[in-house]
Amino acid sequence: MTTSRLAGLRDRTVEERRQLVAENAGVELAYLDVLEPVSGLRVEQADHLIENVIGVMGLPVGVATNFTVNGRDVLVPMATEEASVVAAASNAARIARVRGGFTTSSTAPLMQAQVQVLDVVDPEAARARLLEAADEILRLANDQDPVLTGLGGGARELLVRLVRSPVQTYVVAHLVVDVRDAMGANAVNTMAEAVAARVGEVAGGRPLLRILTNKADLRVTRARAVFDAKSLGGAEVVDNLVHAAALAEADPYRAATHNKGIMNGVTAVVLATGNDTRAVEAGAHSHAVGPDGRYTSLSHYEKDADGNLVGVLELPMPVGLVGGATKAHPVARAVLAILGVTTAQQLADVVVATGLAQNLAAMRALATEGIQRGHMSLHARNIAVTAGASGDEVDKVVARLISDRAIRSEHAERVLAELRGAR
Ligand code: NAD
Repeated sequence: MTTSRLAGLRDRTVEERRQLVAENAGVELAYLDVLEPVSGLRVEQADHLIENVIGVMGLPVGVATNFTVNGRDVLVPMATEEASVVAAASNAARIARVRGGFTTSSTAPLMQAQVQVLDVVDPEAARARLLEAADEILRLANDQDPVLTGLGGGARELLVRLVRSPVQTYVVAHLVVDVRDAMGANAVNTMAEAVAARVGEVAGGRPLLRILTNKADLRVTRARAVFDAKSLGGAEVVDNLVHAAALAEADPYRAATHNKGIMNGVTAVVLATGNDTRAVEAGAHSHAVGPDGRYTSLSHYEKDADGNLVGVLELPMPVGLVGGATKAHPVARAVLAILGVTTAQQLADVVVATGLAQNLAAMRALATEGIQRGHMSLHARNIAVTAGASGDEVDKVVARLISDRAIRSEHAERVLAELRGAR
């Protein structure tokens, strides 16, 4: 990567942008051909991914600029249908860049699978028996995946929980598995299915569910950034941002929207890389509930000793570079090449940094000019295109919709008809 600071990218044509991205990411331009819909995911390839395929659906892939993550410049491809997401992330990354960009830390890539055991007469003793048999159960699990164990991953630990439900107390065994560079769902599910009978036997009950938990709280990534006070707009903006974040921490109604903003960034990168967006989202939702059982904001903000704003975001981040659609989807492969990540961990770092950038951008817009101004000009483009504008008509229709303060489809159609009548 040369630089992620591609000023003026938005003023280039799509082809020029692609060329600049290829040059700066150190990727062959031809490798990005798959970003042309005609050479992207073919129907025959799609037919191998899911059932009853009748076609493929296109989504815009944009590149967020200005990101520095752990001292490395990175261009961040994002797949999203929502206007202003890519621009907002790039903006916040530009502000973070002033003070070194984003830094991260992570746990090991540990996923967990659960085995539920029913009808156990002595749950406390069953828990002790299972822990005594932990080595044998872990061995059985590891026998399932020589590839993973060969790469230094595999089942590491057996945890046993007693879950009291209104029906009965279940013994729930957790296999903790290091899944290396995979998202890991298939890997841990295979292990859970393989050990379930033995777990039931040792516990003295009937095994039922055997499946990973998407509450991936042993696999978290934290991103941190210092947002420069001057670049944010001054001390008053910093204070207002602290208040904005404080409301999200205290109020679930605000927190839900605050967290949705984070996921605008997170989901767009996860989707572009062919990873499982629902798994990441389920993990994030469960992480937003604190130890007191209350739903709250996923990120936290403070003012540092120099008056700058410090933001921190911690998320479970079950993403992979192998498995799922990451290798099977040609666009996902090109996106991973642009990102230049070589481990799942590095991908997680970029995803969480993007979530933090997106969050800061939304808060800043809300705490200053409001969100509609930025949104509206992009929204106006959608309306203009939907009304049938093309080529240079788009900018003309957008300008009129904004100056008339009427960003509505029927007005766009009227303006377009006027324009065409005037020709
Ligand atoms: P996978 O089984 O396709 O790939 C993982 C396997 O790849 C490992 O078990 C290992 O044998 C091999 N491998 C090769 N190189 C590796 C490396 N460097 N690091 C780690 N493993 C390597 O996929 P997966 O990641 O186990 O599962 C992901 C898929 O499971 C996704 O498509 C997801 O949508 C799906 N899924 C999700 C859920 C859920 O989230 N609840 C449930 C079921 C399935």
